[in-house]
Amino acid sequence: MQSTESQPRPLHVLVAGGGIGGLTLAQGLAKAGIAVTVFERDAHARDGDQGYRMVVNADGERALRDCLPSALVDLCERASIAPATLMTFLDTDLEPRFAKPLPRADSGYVLNRLTLREILLAGLGERVQFGRRVTGYDQVGDGRVRVQLADGLTVTGDLLVGADGTDSTVRGLAVPDAEFDLVGHLVRGRTVLHPELASWLPEILIDTVSRVLGPGGVSMSVATCRVRRVPGLTAVPDYLSWSISLHHDPGGAAPHWVARDVVGDWHPALRRIVAEADPAEVVSLPLRAARPVERWSVGNVTLLGDAVHTVPPGRGEGANVALRDAAVLRHRLIDATRGRIPLARAKVEYENEMLAYSFAAQTSIRTTKPYAPRSGA
Ligand SMILES: Cc1cc2nc3c(=O)[nH]c(=O)nc-3n(C[C@H](O)[C@H](O)[C@H](O)COP(=O)(O)OP(=O)(O)OC[C@H]3O[C@@H](n4cnc5c(N)ncnc54)[C@H](O)[C@@H]3O)c2cc1C
Repeated sequence: MQSTESQPRPLHVLVAGGGIGGLTLAQGLAKAGIAVTVFERDAHARDGDQGYRMVVNADGERALRDCLPSALVDLCERASIAPATLMTFLDTDLEPRFAKPLPRADSGYVLNRLTLREILLAGLGERVQFGRRVTGYDQVGDGRVRVQLADGLTVTGDLLVGADGTDSTVRGLAVPDAEFDLVGHLVRGRTVLHPELASWLPEILIDTVSRVLGPGGVSMSVATCRVRRVPGLTAVPDYLSWSISLHHDPGGAAPHWVARDVVGDWHPALRRIVAEADPAEVVSLPLRAARPVERWSVGNVTLLGDAVHTVPPGRGEGANVALRDAAVLRHRLIDATRGRIPLARAKVEYENEMLAYSFAAQTSIRTTKPYAPRSGA
């Protein structure tokens, strides 16, 4: 018997944020029979910026397999976006500079974000409470944590997990000195691939993942997303997912106009792709990279995903690391409920492991990957 062994005990885990990491954790805990309640500030699953493609890599797929029931794992594959066949680097006249075929990957897939969120919500029922924003927490006398909500109500549980994204309220309270680097700006949108658009789209932009290299380090990526229709999930039309990386802050300018301005003298097809996007779906966001943090000492409160180790989105890493966090934390909490380790130990083991791999991934992104946003820009 290990000296860390404790009494088996039921847990009630409270999660701030029903995004990718928080919902995956909820699935993983529900699968293990651990009580969980997720508080999500959005009123509905479709709210927020859900209209982009997400690359789920081998790590992310492994975590989904671990946390989700097998029927939902199958659904991820069935609802995935048809894989692109070619990656190209182009100049602004769409002249190819470099191209490489994309072989069918052995693992991972690409999902529309809304599709993934809907799959992650399946079966969670009342465990997820929409329209409930977490505003704070406090420790209560019996070693539990009490979560405060914007509606004035409080809920008490054994552990609070801050999975509330880059602007995390929970992190702001638990690790107030956490810092980020602003490493650029992104304007992104999507343009429905209706038959008329497909009829004039240059071949090089069809079923490819393309990066257009503009002047001054500005670049635009365009990816064809043909979402497989699955009954029960919102039908997403085929679309071109595009994003423009900027090194200046577009400020308060309307994002659609910023994008149109950047591509103003680029190839007509690129101008038209941007012009035909729904302006309401074109968004501008700062690109931030978290600086490493020390493990925090707040009892009964931990963090997961972008809330602790946000990275710029273009690398396809953020959600995958959040998925991995969910799987790692799930296992430590299973250990705690089975009496193998005390809950406090489970939290420390999770945080040590998560902080090590997440910030190692961060360093690798900042130092080795091509087309990294320039720091200090
Ligand atoms: C354009 C774009 C493309 C991307 N592509 C990829 C990709 O291909 N692969 C990849 O791995 N990653 C990608 N990412 C990054 C990925 O989306 C994030 O890293 C991932 O969503 C992080 O998951 P999370 O659960 O930590 O946070 P989120 O998914 O952001 O979820 C946080 C949730 O918390 C909620 N919330 C916030 N505050 C509160 C509060 N106070 N109370 C209650 N709820 C709250 C929010 O509404 C949200 O639902 C991309 C990001 C963008 C913007």
